Amino acid sequence: MLIGSAAVAVAGAASPGVAFASGRSGVSLRWLGVAGWELLVDGRRVLVDPYLSRLPVFDEGGQFIPDHPLTVREDLVDRHLGEKSELVLATHGHYDHLLEVPYVVEKHGSRVIGTETHRHLLTAQGVPGDAVVVASGGEHLDFHGFTVQVFRSLHSQFGSYGYFAPGSLTAPPPRPTTISDLVEGGSLAYMVTARGFSVLFLSGTANYVEREIAGLRPDVLVLGMSGHANVFDYTARALRATRPELLIPSHHDDMVTQLDDPALPPRGNPAAAAELTATARRIGLAARVLDPEVLRWYDL
Ligand SMILES: [Zn+2]
Repeated sequence: MLIGSAAVAVAGAASPGVAFASGRSGVSLRWLGVAGWELLVDGRRVLVDPYLSRLPVFDEGGQFIPDHPLTVREDLVDRHLGEKSELVLATHGHYDHLLEVPYVVEKHGSRVIGTETHRHLLTAQGVPGDAVVVASGGEHLDFHGFTVQVFRSLHSQFGSYGYFAPGSLTAPPPRPTTISDLVEGGSLAYMVTARGFSVLFLSGTANYVEREIAGLRPDVLVLGMSGHANVFDYTARALRATRPELLIPSHHDDMVTQLDDPALPPRGNPAAAAELTATARRIGLAARVLDPEVLRWYDL
């Protein structure tokens, strides 16, 4: 459900997409599918968990394939992420978040922020160690034109209250070859602030540390919206803690339908935006909800 005006923006380099909300913040955002995001401000690009390859990790019977090989659809990265990305923010180490980071770094010379484990996973795949800024939560980094705050966070907790491929590393492992080799390695959340406008990415998992985010008051909250059935009052706690003006769902598609498959729905699961809308209404938060189309730019 899309609430608010969505007028076609004036074409031009500074205005790549559709205006949403005021469209005057100078910050643009697009969903790359799964939990991937690209933020654009003043011609500078920040990626969060880019994952265009959408590995077919389910067999014909719908069973998950934990030893699925790691293969990157470089053609899609070349097509959709052709402009230089200055920074990549890794929320955690799983394949659907970290798989393409080595190729993006090779292609663009991007700097990455992640945990010590994420650094080990990346250097094991040939990423130079000095390309990875190790963070643990609490950092407030100035990129001179925008800032990035890093927050300690948590992975989603599924039916068993656990999740696929947990674990941490204290040294680089053998080169990862299957999706099980890309372990979680801790989870982080990020807030990017530019021109006084802030976007909080609790986008890579469906969990967070409430005390880490309480009182942040971002303009936009991008919230992971699947796998939170066992997280107490997940959506309402996030909204109450941060009271954003615009809500955007993340990690709410099927993860496997290819981006160049005509069968790919333009949006994710509509239940995600509907839950955000209903929760905001229930707690009395006057926030709009943007249910984004995949790969479409929105001027915030
Ligand atoms: Zn994960």
